[in-house]
Amino acid sequence: MELTSEKYDIKSMTLEELKKEMEAMGEKAFRAAQLYEWMHGKLARNYEEMTNLSRSLREKLAEKYPYTSLKPVQVQESKLDGTRKFLFGLSDGNVVESVWMRYKHGNSVCISSQVGCRMGCRFCASTLDGLERNLLPSEMLDQIYAITRLTGERVSNVVVMGTGEPMDNYDNLVRFLRLLTGEGGLHISQRNVTVSTCGIVPKMRQLAEENFQITLALSLHATTDEKRKKLMPVANSYHLDELMETCAYYFEKTGRRITFEYSLVGGVNDTLEDAKELSALAAPLHAHINLIPVNPIKERNYVQSGRREIEAFKNKLEKNKINVTIRREMGRDIDGACGQLRRRHMTESEER
Ligand code: SAH
Repeated sequence: MELTSEKYDIKSMTLEELKKEMEAMGEKAFRAAQLYEWMHGKLARNYEEMTNLSRSLREKLAEKYPYTSLKPVQVQESKLDGTRKFLFGLSDGNVVESVWMRYKHGNSVCISSQVGCRMGCRFCASTLDGLERNLLPSEMLDQIYAITRLTGERVSNVVVMGTGEPMDNYDNLVRFLRLLTGEGGLHISQRNVTVSTCGIVPKMRQLAEENFQITLALSLHATTDEKRKKLMPVANSYHLDELMETCAYYFEKTGRRITFEYSLVGGVNDTLEDAKELSALAAPLHAHINLIPVNPIKERNYVQSGRREIEAFKNKLEKNKINVTIRREMGRDIDGACGQLRRRHMTESEER
């Protein structure tokens, strides 16, 4: 059944909202808590599973609120590290991808926040066909719920780093974060949640006001406006100095250190001079730097920096007392870069 209107998207409602809905239907308010627990605690796939609700209530609910879940369309598992990539079908036939990674400290899921993306970063596969639509809060949650059911294992970390720009879908993102980390659902610790943005300044400021303890990651990728504009069109709208001021504001307001993501692109942003400039940006913010060897996509001719350049870049940062990690490349053997699985699926469907 297709979700026809956000108004009837029951899995995106808070407990308070559900109580009002129940009362409006002439039901007791405690039914809302039962329903909430089925949806967000027990991860029910349909109303039929909700056996402590009467049949007539379940029928009434089904009539008014289509209950949707994601359908796994394709799963790829890495032979190298067990990472799994899922392609999920949404109720309107669109598809999104999510990644499940197993770490020593627990399982991590990387979710998409939009179908496609309109930010246009030059090295990214998710943006090649532009934005199709925003994901609903329930559709962001359902990626985690479906993966929890399919793997049979608890998810302890969530990163909003898949397809889409979360700050371009701000209200749904914030609602999703509340449902994900609140009591009665999966109740994932906010400290184990990371939201990654290409740097939409007004939304970053707004997020600072929400009182979350999540980690904000900024996709920086370049240390001057000139270089950043070549990689990321969003740099034409927000300049580095206001971006850094905003990061300082976020840090001050929340006490949470920002992470800078920096994809190393061979011959573009990987010199020792770049590392020096990056140190100067990171130091005053005590920012953590995550270096990502760029994942080449066939539509563009960017190449990864060499192992030696990457090591030298990292050493330079460390010498400058910057906290830095090189992102472990998980699932190298399964459609590496974000958005590639979905794109391949779409191209293949067109050819059929
Ligand atoms: N829109 C958000 C989140 C999604 S992208 C953002 O821009 O942060 C998640 C991260 O992967 C971003 O840092 C993005 O710049 C990076 N990324 C995208 N494509 C990549 C590629 N081909 N190689 C390396 N990093 C890539």
